[in-house]
Amino acid sequence: MDIKKITLTLILLTTFICGCKKKTNSVNDSGAQTPANYLSSSDYGTLKIEIAYNAGYPPASETINNIKSFLSSHTNKPGGITVVLNEITEAPPARSSMADIMAIEKKYRTVFTSGDILTTFVYLSNSEYEEGQGNYQTLGIEYGPGSIVLFGRTMRTLSGGIGQPPYYILESSVAMHEFGHILGLVNAGSKMVSSHMDGAHAHHCNNKECLMYFAVETSDLVANLLGGSIPALDGNCTNDLRANGGK
Ligand SMILES: [Zn+2]
Ligand SMILES: [Zn+2]
Repeated sequence: MDIKKITLTLILLTTFICGCKKKTNSVNDSGAQTPANYLSSSDYGTLKIEIAYNAGYPPASETINNIKSFLSSHTNKPGGITVVLNEITEAPPARSSMADIMAIEKKYRTVFTSGDILTTFVYLSNSEYEEGQGNYQTLGIEYGPGSIVLFGRTMRTLSGGIGQPPYYILESSVAMHEFGHILGLVNAGSKMVSSHMDGAHAHHCNNKECLMYFAVETSDLVANLLGGSIPALDGNCTNDLRANGGK
């Protein structure tokens, strides 16, 4: 691997982890739901996830399976977890603002929480986020308690080439990380069993091998992501989910 590729890989990996922001804006249609609603079955036994995507850029089938498997592993939803796709034909701007994203949800969201069914809206946008984070680009944001945006256009520039992971690995990793925030990690609605929040990066885990770590810097993790492994939740994050009604 030459220096250029190594640099690219490190930028990618740092981008992946830094590339997520947690926002707590009010959201269009899921404002009242909490991490506990996801983790336990006492309020909702069924979870329905809508993935809205710009025409021509659907999520990878592996990503859909990985999201379902991640949530089945950590939440109690005896009624099942389903994913519905919603193609948006309106072309997105090259760069989206948070207002643009929330307007898309308001216009196109078709699933709404009611009865026994909890819902999440995921917008897989073929655009870039207008705000970077320092030197890094943003890949995903949990912008409400039941709302996630993923920046597919940015993820595609960072995957699929030589020295880059496959697209679905990146898409799955970012999506699962954002769902980790939806489940209240780290210390964002699911109380910590023992202190493990990264002091410098709020709501992220201090374990560099954890899915909820803000940055990945070791060659081990470079190898893992390039070798096709998506980071998993570590013991501390898993314990938090268990202690707050999940598994
Ligand atoms: Zn994050
Ligand atoms: Zn963790």
